[in-house]
Amino acid sequence: MSVKVRFAPSPTGLIHVGNVRIALMNWLFARREGGVFLLRVDDTDLERSTKAFEDQIVEDLHWLGLGFDERFNQSDRFDLYEAAREKLVATGFLYPCYETEDELDRKRKLQRAQGKPPVYDRAALNLTDADKAKFEAEGRKPHWRFKLSGGRIEWNDLVRGPSHIDTSSVSDPILIREDGSYLYTLPSVVDDLDAGITHVIRGEDHVTNSAAQIEIFEALGGKGSAPHMAHFPLLVGSDGEKLSKRIGGLSVKALREEEGMEAMAILSLLAKLGTSDPIEARADLASLASELDFSKVSRTPARFDFAEMERLNAKLLHEAAFDAVVARLRALGIKGDEAFWLAVRPNLSRLKDAADWWRLVEGPVAPVIEDADYAAKAAVLLPEGNLTRESWGAWTSAIKAETGRKGRDLFLPLRQALTGQNHGPEMDVLLPLIPRETVLARLAGKSI
Ligand code: GLU
Repeated sequence: MSVKVRFAPSPTGLIHVGNVRIALMNWLFARREGGVFLLRVDDTDLERSTKAFEDQIVEDLHWLGLGFDERFNQSDRFDLYEAAREKLVATGFLYPCYETEDELDRKRKLQRAQGKPPVYDRAALNLTDADKAKFEAEGRKPHWRFKLSGGRIEWNDLVRGPSHIDTSSVSDPILIREDGSYLYTLPSVVDDLDAGITHVIRGEDHVTNSAAQIEIFEALGGKGSAPHMAHFPLLVGSDGEKLSKRIGGLSVKALREEEGMEAMAILSLLAKLGTSDPIEARADLASLASELDFSKVSRTPARFDFAEMERLNAKLLHEAAFDAVVARLRALGIKGDEAFWLAVRPNLSRLKDAADWWRLVEGPVAPVIEDADYAAKAAVLLPEGNLTRESWGAWTSAIKAETGRKGRDLFLPLRQALTGQNHGPEMDVLLPLIPRETVLARLAGKSI
């Protein structure tokens, strides 16, 4: 069987770590199985969906490295949904209902008061043609429900294991609203059937939809036409709270543009979060694909910890080769060479922080000199020849021996002269990156 999976975001907002986790699981699964990864844009809600969000989703997926093999928009496919609707009406699976929201609400309240579950009573199935004509004459428009079998739906969930839902315990789902618009349930099935989706990998919030959808699959495509299912437990914050509270800051766009996260830091975390595997930095998606194992996913919500992602980010930068980052360094205006990169990378938690180092190397720096005598003595004692990682230690030892200064009195004036600041990077790393003449000029108080 050739595998085909899909990621089906609604372009009504930015995609965030929760969506990315699902996209990633689909992508990795397709990659591991040599299958096809489809991007399905769920834009049937014409009011809330925008082209700008759709473009952003595509950009985010590409930035993450989660490219897709095929793509389509649900908004281009209303003909197919219409045909499915007709088929379901003709076969008696889809039936018109005329209750108003208020009437349904009253029914539910009554059921609850009687200690019954608030499941739709299917009153509309008993409507005669005359009843329907009367409602229509009153100006009522029907909404349409799918008639569930009332039986037990079973599937072997790739994440949750053997799963079942008694459809007698759920209301016949509304597939089409009064205004003729489709809820998500039917178009999703129509597209999964049409595209030949073999595995539906998505969030646990869709488990109850699955029962109805499996029956819709069979009503449209015949017995056994439902794909395999894998439902991932939702992500929660590190405090166990719903992630939605701070989801704005966890959009891919914000993580990239504001937080300076590397794509692989986000992906390394999301691939292993809530699994029995350790969370470790991986430099490429191929490693994550080879390690993918749905049986290791825990059934409890996965905790998303920002600090953990930052740790992975730093780790990836510390190991990143110059070639892999040079284009981005140049885009940040950093002209440093490989030696510069190798010197600063162990000190970075975000790539853009390299710019702080570069500013001190390239200058101009306005030196702060409180004691010109001391600076002049230090200049004389600067080790001869090329400055290296050892030069700072040798230099400050010599100054200490000569002046008797130690601690802050010894170090701070040198830092102030060379960087113009009281705080900043490790001086032993910085010193060899600055040309010797520049070091001497700064000690002499020149802005360079
Ligand atoms: N657009 C739906 C969502 O984002 C897709 C769900 C599915 O994968 O079936 O929740």
